[in-house]
Amino acid sequence: MKAFVKKLKAYKAEVTVEEIKKKYGLSKLVRLSSNESVYGPSPKAIEAIKGIDLSQLNYYPDGQAGPLRRAVAQQEGVAEDSLVFGDGGDEIIELLTRTILTPGSEMIVPDPTFGEYVIHAEIEGAKTVAVPIKAATGQIDFAGMLKRVNNQTALIFLANPNNPTGVQEKVADIEAFLKDLPNNVILVVDEAYYEFSGNAQASCVSLVAKYPNLVVLRTVSKAYGLANLRVGYAILPEKLAGILQAVRLPYNLSNFQITGAAAAIQDQDFLAQVVSKVAKEREIFQAFLKEVSIKFYPSTANFIWFEMKDSARLAERLLQSGYQVKSSLDPNHIRLTLGKPEDNQAIRTIIKDYV
Ligand code: PMP
Repeated sequence: MKAFVKKLKAYKAEVTVEEIKKKYGLSKLVRLSSNESVYGPSPKAIEAIKGIDLSQLNYYPDGQAGPLRRAVAQQEGVAEDSLVFGDGGDEIIELLTRTILTPGSEMIVPDPTFGEYVIHAEIEGAKTVAVPIKAATGQIDFAGMLKRVNNQTALIFLANPNNPTGVQEKVADIEAFLKDLPNNVILVVDEAYYEFSGNAQASCVSLVAKYPNLVVLRTVSKAYGLANLRVGYAILPEKLAGILQAVRLPYNLSNFQITGAAAAIQDQDFLAQVVSKVAKEREIFQAFLKEVSIKFYPSTANFIWFEMKDSARLAERLLQSGYQVKSSLDPNHIRLTLGKPEDNQAIRTIIKDYV
């Protein structure tokens, strides 16, 4: 067995909504702790899944995820061979680390950021170099990251917008960083929350054709409202895509995943409605935080990361009222996934009363 995996903590699933409801005697719990969409998926995605011929379940699914591949290629204006699909963005992260990292190699990430990158680097026996974000603005310290690149560096992950801060970097700044990187260092720009920015110019997809070492990661778990379906994908140079296609499991997506995700991606009108509702709530919430002098980083995602001393206490207070938020990432910050207007209003009232 790999020596370094013995040190990993066993996976512990999050406490379920039902368990929390029981513990707190709640009739309703609104989960705003995992950055899921509160608006659900496109009705067209549901219809498409319902339309699947269940008598064909004895046959393996399309190993190339054909209908989904065509839908994404068309939507993003990229070649079908520049796409790799996974069981959520998580599988793509695992595929990248498994393929690229070797024991003793190094991965650079901003700090804080999405925890899965580090877990998978550890599984491969690679070293993680975490570069703190700029405290004043929450932005990525590109110069600081560049300084940490050495002969062992194999992989860099950036979430854009970042999780948990919600801060989005300019494509021009990411491109400037890419220009300074050696070609053998792969940069992954994780755009899990990109759609919420409502800004088509904010994606790095257009750079994939120019840089052999750039990977853009997307998911249908967030703005498309399909976290339970488990579909993510990478848009990357064809040569690199071919390598990942050879490494990945042959039938990693079922027909339910392929059909549902394809239909969701084809329903851009639904996506636009979700994005506009989230943007409105984000604006109202950020204006409120300003008004009550709570510090936060301006977000372009469906969540806000704000300062709160002893964050677990406020999280507990919110839980008693049926709102689950994330306080475990930092003792002095809360990450709040934006809910529906009435829930956000109720949360603001609780916070106002609390501070
Ligand atoms: N990247 C980021 C930044 C995330 O926050 C998440 C989910 N929390 C993911 C990737 C993976 O999401 P999924 O596996 O559901 O696609």
